[in-house]
Amino acid sequence: MPTKTPAPGDLEPIERASRDEISALQLQRLQWSVRHCHDNVAPYRRRCAERGVHPDDLKTLADLAKFPFMTKSDLREHYPFGLFAVPRERVARLHASSGTTGKPIVVGYTLRDIEHWADLVARSLRAAGARPGDMVHNAYGYGMFTGGLGAHYGIERAGCTAVPMSGGQTEKQVQAIIDFRPDFIMVTPSYSLVIAEEFARQGMTPEQISLAVGVFGAEPWGEGMRGEIERMLGIDAIDIYGLTEVMGPGVASECIESKDGPVIWEDHFYPEVIDPETGEALPDGEEGELVFTSLTKEAFPVIRYRTRDLTRLLPPTARSFRRMGRITGRSDDMLIIRGVNVFPTQIEEQVLRDKRLSGNYQLVITRSGHMDEMEVRCEVQRELQGALSAADFDHLGRELQHRIKTMIGVSAKVSVMEADAIPRTLVGKARRVIDQRPKQS
Ligand code: ADP
Repeated sequence: MPTKTPAPGDLEPIERASRDEISALQLQRLQWSVRHCHDNVAPYRRRCAERGVHPDDLKTLADLAKFPFMTKSDLREHYPFGLFAVPRERVARLHASSGTTGKPIVVGYTLRDIEHWADLVARSLRAAGARPGDMVHNAYGYGMFTGGLGAHYGIERAGCTAVPMSGGQTEKQVQAIIDFRPDFIMVTPSYSLVIAEEFARQGMTPEQISLAVGVFGAEPWGEGMRGEIERMLGIDAIDIYGLTEVMGPGVASECIESKDGPVIWEDHFYPEVIDPETGEALPDGEEGELVFTSLTKEAFPVIRYRTRDLTRLLPPTARSFRRMGRITGRSDDMLIIRGVNVFPTQIEEQVLRDKRLSGNYQLVITRSGHMDEMEVRCEVQRELQGALSAADFDHLGRELQHRIKTMIGVSAKVSVMEADAIPRTLVGKARRVIDQRPKQS
């Protein structure tokens, strides 16, 4: 139920530009960015020399494929500031990744980088239908995590009123939403369900909640989860994507009129999708690992940064820029259960196919002998609590087990639990996988 479809007049000219115009701008910025990184970041310069490439070789966009990749381990190796391209004194702000996958990495921003970031989050909010004067409840965590402050500056830049709630304290969040009546919420999809549950607990229906649109990101979520959030909060749920290494939230974001995948803000980030095994660039539409090159960043330029996020590049629709598909998983999220590759989002999709189950789920991985085993823990919707018999629980579990086996090809134990049985993550990203396997020494 899109409520606030943006008028075309609200778009920046570049959002409606022709592909030729976009490519020309990208090439000009790319040449600057690669040279800037090369000239100011010694480890990158060495890497280029080893590979026998030089910024002068970059004559077309396709020439970028000759340049080496950057990876998260490069950031760790040169922790904390070794990949900065400006003197530390010119860095206006530091952020760090939330460390979902190991030791944190640190990134820096000049004042101009922060301006661009605010511009792009503001653009993302406009794409989600926000207008000056709207109020935005920001429940992304404030601090070193890019979510809170990244969203905050964008909210202000869009001319909206920021409510800097940060994460946690769910009752207080709900009270603020009741009292201030914000139009938008920015939060992780998993925590939005916790907020929705608190509204339900207080007896409020979706119609009574002022929110019209939610802008959700920082963790993978699928169409089933979108439907669940929209139903529970009575809002449009929009997907925003980003990562610390490349900037933070607002690298790509969805348009409310199409809701067909985040539009990549290609005037600031040049996307590629590569085969994660061979490193070959793949044609648009094929699934592989997303790679980004920053086009305007000063303090922390990234050239062909391997995100480890798996997705596809899709043709433009509501804007002139290309879109990305859903993130099907991170290459390091992938579980291998009895030889079958499984992403948590695949399980989520199967859980949410059954309207009697909530969007809260957890995967518990154990090892018995040499075999890995997966238990899928899920919960019934709160409104069904008490209405289902033990036999119904059993039946629900067997149906889900069957769907997982036929659709994903993996045998899992399924435990259907009472509503609220699974612990919620109140701050930061949802903890979906509990790995109880003994650590390999
Ligand atoms: P960390 O790598 O420690 O989690 P970040 O906070 O930088 O630190 O997380 C960025 C990652 O979060 C992305 O690489 C991606 O895996 C995930 N992510 C961010 N936004 C989305 C989104 N909209 N959909 C799916 N995954 C997302």
